[in-house]
Amino acid sequence: MSATAFEYPDEIRALREGLAAFIRAEVVPRHKANAELLEDEHRKFSPDGRYTPEVLRLLREVRQASARAGYYAMCVPESLGGMGMGYLAWYAAWEQITESCEGHMWIGEVAVSHWATGPSPVLEHLTEEARRTILPGMMAGDTTMCFGMSEPDAGSDAMMMKTRAVADGDGWRLSGSKIWTTNSPYADYCIVFAVTDPEAAAQRKSGISAFLVPTNSPGFQIQRVIRMWGHAGGNEAVLSFDNVRVEPWQLVGRLHRGFATAMLGVNLGRVYNSARAVALGRWAVRQALDYVKIRKTFGRPIADYQGVTFPLADAATQVHAAHLMSLNVCQLLDAGQPARKELSMTKLYAVQAGMQALDRAMQAHGAIGMTNEMHFAQNFLRMRMLNVADGTNEILRRTILKELLDGDLDL
Ligand SMILES: Cc1cc2nc3c(=O)[nH]c(=O)nc-3n(C[C@H](O)[C@H](O)[C@H](O)COP(=O)(O)OP(=O)(O)OC[C@H]3O[C@@H](n4cnc5c(N)ncnc54)[C@H](O)[C@@H]3O)c2cc1C
Repeated sequence: MSATAFEYPDEIRALREGLAAFIRAEVVPRHKANAELLEDEHRKFSPDGRYTPEVLRLLREVRQASARAGYYAMCVPESLGGMGMGYLAWYAAWEQITESCEGHMWIGEVAVSHWATGPSPVLEHLTEEARRTILPGMMAGDTTMCFGMSEPDAGSDAMMMKTRAVADGDGWRLSGSKIWTTNSPYADYCIVFAVTDPEAAAQRKSGISAFLVPTNSPGFQIQRVIRMWGHAGGNEAVLSFDNVRVEPWQLVGRLHRGFATAMLGVNLGRVYNSARAVALGRWAVRQALDYVKIRKTFGRPIADYQGVTFPLADAATQVHAAHLMSLNVCQLLDAGQPARKELSMTKLYAVQAGMQALDRAMQAHGAIGMTNEMHFAQNFLRMRMLNVADGTNEILRRTILKELLDGDLDL
C-alpha cells in the first residue's frame, strides 16, 4: 500500500531502482572494505583537516563509476552534455541515495553530482573555452569544483561581499576572501563571486559577477580547513585571493549579473536538502519502530508506552507532510513556476521534520541511541547544519513573508 496518491513516473522509478542497484554494487562493498578508515575521524582526516588521499580516492572512484553508469550528470543541462532531468527526478534520486546509504555510507553521497561541487546548471553559461577546458573532466567525475559566495562579513547578506574583481586589460584581478566554501580543500575549480561594479552593488542592484577560477591559480590560497560539526577535519575552508589574474574566458554568465548564476543552483540545493531530511527522518522513525517492539522495560515492550511512541507518531506525521510538500514543490518547479514561497516552506519544514525524527528516534533508543554505531548522532548534527546551509531558517521565513505580504496568499 502506498502512503501517497502520487506515483513517480516510470522514468523516475527506473532511475531510483538503478541508483539503489548502483549503491549496492559500487558503494556498499567499498564502504564495507574501508569501514575503519571511513568511520574513524582520525584516519579519515589528515592532521591539517583534509581528507586523506585514500578517502579522496574512494570518493573519486564512486564519482567516476556513477559517471560511467550514467547517473552522475542526471540533472546537468543537456546543453552541457547531461541528462537534463528535472527537480522531481533530483528529489527522488537524493531520497533514494540517502535511503540506500542507510545513514552512514557517506561516500555514496557523490553518486549524483552536487550542484555546487560538480557539473550542474550553475555552469550553463560557461564560455566555449571554459566548456572545452573543464567540462570533460568534471562530467567524468575526475575533477570537482566549489562555490565561493559567503565571506566572513557577508553570509545571509551576500551583497555585502568585499571580494573585488578589478578590470585589468581584457581581464580582471581578483582580491579578497571567502569562507565556508564546501569542497574547496579538494576542488580543481572555484566559482568565485566578486564585486565588479561597486556603485551598483552598493545600491543592491547588481554589480556582482561570477568567475571560474582554477584553484592552482597564482594567488589563490586555501588558508585553513574548518573543522565542522564534531569532525576531526572538514569539507569547508577559508580561501583568499591575492591579485589572482582572471581571463575573459573565465567569466561565468553575464558581467555584473552573477546572482542569476547562483540562483541556478540554489533551488536544486533546497530540494536536495529536503530530500535528505525526508529520507533520514524516515530512516530514523523506522529504526525506532523496530526497536520499541523488542526493547522491554518493566516486563513490557516499550512500544506499549505512549510516552515513547506518541513522539514517533508525530515524527512520522511530519516526515510524511514534508515528503508531500517536496513532491508538490518539485512539480511546481518542473512546470517552470518560481515557487519561491513553497520552496522556502518546504526546505524550512523538511529540515525541522528530519531533525525532530532523529531526535525522537534517539530518545526511544535510550543510551544506545547516543552511540556512534547507531549513526543517529552524526545525522542529527548534519541535519542541524542544514538549518543554516542553503538559506538559514530565518532567511527562508523572510522569503515566505515577503511573498505573503506581496499578495501571494495561495496556501
Ligand atoms: C555546512 C555549510 C556549508 C556551506 N557551504 C557553503 C558554500 O559552499 N559556499 C558558500 O558560499 N557558502 C556556504 N555556506 C555558508 C552559508 O551560505 C551561510 O552560512 C549562510 O548564508 C548564513 O550566513 P552566516 O553564516 O554568515 O550567518 P549570518 O548571515 O551572519 O546570520 C546569523 C544569524 O542571523 C540570522 N539573520 C541574518 N539576517 C537576518 C534577517 N534579515 N532576518 C532574520 N534573521 C537574520 C541568520 O538566519 C542567522 O541565524 C555553508 C554553510 C554551512 C553551515
